[in-house]
Amino acid sequence: MKYLKIVFLFFILIFFTFKYFAHKNASTTCTILTNLKFYDSESSNYISGKSLLINGTVITNIFESTNLEYNNSCKVVDLNSAFVFPGLIDAHTHLLALDSQKVTSWKQALQISAAKPTMMRLFIGEKNAKSMLYEGFTTVRDLGNSGNFLDKELNSRITQNISVGPEIIFSGPGITISPSQIDLKVNPYEYTIISNTSEVDAVLKKYIANDAAWVKIYADNSINENLISQELLSTLIQKAKEHKLKVAVHSEFSQSALLALQAQANSIEHFYEAPDRAPVSMPTSPYIVITDFSLDVCNNLNFQSNCNQKILSLKERLNWLKLNSYKIVFGSDGVLDFSSRFKSRGELSMASLLSLSQYGLSNREIIAAATSTAADMLELPSGRIGISKTADLIALSSDPLIDLNNLKSKALIMSKGNIVCLGVQGCSHD
Ligand SMILES: [Zn+2]
Repeated sequence: MKYLKIVFLFFILIFFTFKYFAHKNASTTCTILTNLKFYDSESSNYISGKSLLINGTVITNIFESTNLEYNNSCKVVDLNSAFVFPGLIDAHTHLLALDSQKVTSWKQALQISAAKPTMMRLFIGEKNAKSMLYEGFTTVRDLGNSGNFLDKELNSRITQNISVGPEIIFSGPGITISPSQIDLKVNPYEYTIISNTSEVDAVLKKYIANDAAWVKIYADNSINENLISQELLSTLIQKAKEHKLKVAVHSEFSQSALLALQAQANSIEHFYEAPDRAPVSMPTSPYIVITDFSLDVCNNLNFQSNCNQKILSLKERLNWLKLNSYKIVFGSDGVLDFSSRFKSRGELSMASLLSLSQYGLSNREIIAAATSTAADMLELPSGRIGISKTADLIALSSDPLIDLNNLKSKALIMSKGNIVCLGVQGCSHD
């Protein structure tokens, strides 16, 4: 009898424990955001009077706030008339690289980073990733200088909740003809060297095996002044696409920009020089990832000369892109430690984004470059607010369409339905 009683009590305990956790799960995975204006990327304007229902990682309903019932089982968050935007996307980062700004050349900078032990690079990556999320970047694309797929490792730590950070779209080591940007004796995994088209299949195998969505190919390489052949670039891109890999092409000069456009890269990175002419009969308008540092950042580099000239050309290039209906995407190219100027990598990325307003883009165009257009390029269900879109959101206490600096007035950051921080105080990150 006594045993029966114990068994009975045990089952009662299990039942209530299960009920408690079931309830707890229901309340933590379902959130309603209310008292807000949200940004509609299609009309480029705010929609008021609606509330957002988030179930799990996705926005599942947008309904009239007058229909909100407070006695539902979801957590209700009153955003105090905040301006809600899709989480930001930085489409060109190097989270696993962090070098001293006191170096005297890019080669030295990239080499110091590549030589760091794996655990130290992961530690640096975790710190950078966390700071990006706390600046409102809920997705980043990492493009190399990350050792032997440490970008993949960092992303898996974030998805397993071992570390905190944005979703990382990773690309593994950059593919380049010899010589690479660094001396590979320092770290043979930092780049993948390719010599001719017969090696393409074997090279791509490594990226497919590591579940990379993108590969990065250097069409040129300013450190070594080398230019890939049209045949090799076209074969790489064509074969990558056959394997459902998207290709980002690094291009600093006008010749490589033309090569990358002709070979139909999925994105062209940097684009410091526009080609002399736009290729005709392109099936779709290409995505160009603008990665110019702000004048402030450039002037803080020990080894970068002609900052004024380089950055003033950005206005011309952005005009060229708009005239040719190319799609402009934001990338910070954060690779260095600017600790004397910025608190974190996230802050550096935010400063790069804000600086675009000095070069003839409207606040709406800049926001599109870091949200909807970037999401289209990455083919992600984020970057817009709508039903069945990913619940990656930022709420701002002041309007960034009036002053872009208000992107810093964060009152909420939500990543895949999880509240990262709430309240202006809660969202300030050191
Ligand atoms: Zn880069």
